[in-house]
Amino acid sequence: MQCIPRKTLPAALLLCFAANGAMAADAAPNVTAHQAEIDQIVKEISPQRIEGYVRKLVSFGTRHTMSDTVSDTRGIGAARRWIKGELERCGAAAGGRLQVGYDSHVHPVMARLSQPTEIVNVVATLPGTQAESVDRMYVVSGHYDSRVTDVMNATSDAPGANDDASGTAAVIEMACVMARHQFDATLVFMTVAAEEQGLLGAANWAELARQKNWNIAGMLNNDIIGSSRADDGHVDNTQVRLFAEGIPAVKDMSDANRALVATGGENDSITRQLARHIKEVGERYVDKFSVNVIYRRDRYLRGGDHSPFLDRGYAAVRFTEPNEDFNHQHQDLREEGGRKIGDLPEYDDFNYIAQVARVNAASLSSLALAPAAPQQVKVRTAKLDNNTELVWQANKEPDLAGYRIVWRDTTAPQWQGALYVGNTTQYVIPRSKDNFLFGVQAVDKDGNVSVATYPLPQR
Ligand SMILES: [Zn+2]
Repeated sequence: MQCIPRKTLPAALLLCFAANGAMAADAAPNVTAHQAEIDQIVKEISPQRIEGYVRKLVSFGTRHTMSDTVSDTRGIGAARRWIKGELERCGAAAGGRLQVGYDSHVHPVMARLSQPTEIVNVVATLPGTQAESVDRMYVVSGHYDSRVTDVMNATSDAPGANDDASGTAAVIEMACVMARHQFDATLVFMTVAAEEQGLLGAANWAELARQKNWNIAGMLNNDIIGSSRADDGHVDNTQVRLFAEGIPAVKDMSDANRALVATGGENDSITRQLARHIKEVGERYVDKFSVNVIYRRDRYLRGGDHSPFLDRGYAAVRFTEPNEDFNHQHQDLREEGGRKIGDLPEYDDFNYIAQVARVNAASLSSLALAPAAPQQVKVRTAKLDNNTELVWQANKEPDLAGYRIVWRDTTAPQWQGALYVGNTTQYVIPRSKDNFLFGVQAVDKDGNVSVATYPLPQR
């Protein structure tokens, strides 16, 4: 049995208790050590290659969704053929396990499409190597389309170096590095089109996933992760924002969300659990870099490709640089008062993009190496007492070591205490369910930890 004290833990929480009648736990795997493989992946992410990808994407002139699809040098068609070729080249060099293809549909005329347009996502899938986990997928995306001031302008130069060649380059780099490694669960590296026309590419794939009932256990959107310089000129390359929604703003609340709200769990949605996990893992593996979780779906007036996933009930988050400079997004290239306006590569910071890619890669690796989050986690509430009895369904992974109960004050953002309880499916913790928020995590023999599952009440 083990207690993991945290620096932020109030003194009163530092004690761990052995519960009455609890079975003795096996030796706990070390869940806070660095995994050598994840360190290696983080180290392999290259700012130089990322810069090369961004400059190549910019070289297509415009990547507007309705731009030229025939030319080999200009327009969105050339861009997507190059992305596909690059992913295929990396996949082949890594041993041929990366499956690269197009996800395509023709979208009819709508407010932001003046003609029926083929919307093409480039999707690279790295299948998991564990039979029990191959169906569990983690998606990471960036959008490769670009725009200028007029969202319907498909011909003017729209370099989109930050929005969103930065996210696209990060996804290509992650695919190329991670394809050389093996993960229990499946990773999907996706560059999507028509984000600027209304999230059409991401929505098409998210809808396919929903219809096929795919188990998308987490979706990480990277959009505008290119610059460390704010509009007032100051540079901050030490953090990234991670937008994470709580309860979705829908008219009719689902029973699951009603149960969350009824038990004070509005900060324990699956998306917030994912964000909590990314913050913990990302900051562990990327030195001197913080993940600043923002309790919102997105910024005001803006949207992103995580939204279609959230709308279909999946956990989905968005990475964005800390301080945006709107002179370098969605702008016609021009000079104003001696100042250059436009989304040009000279305003990108390739070392910064690499740092954000490292946070993504560490989190995705950790998620895909770990067991699934425990299912059917319940807190028994049949009688009035000051203990917390948690029960859950057994995981099926063969490398499972056991489970870990985590808790925090109801006002705290991150887990404050943890107790490894061994390979059991129930545990009584002498700590009042009325006073803390709990979660249950699955842990494998190497110490890879799942996202926590929030317990719903059971009488
Ligand atoms: Zn964007």
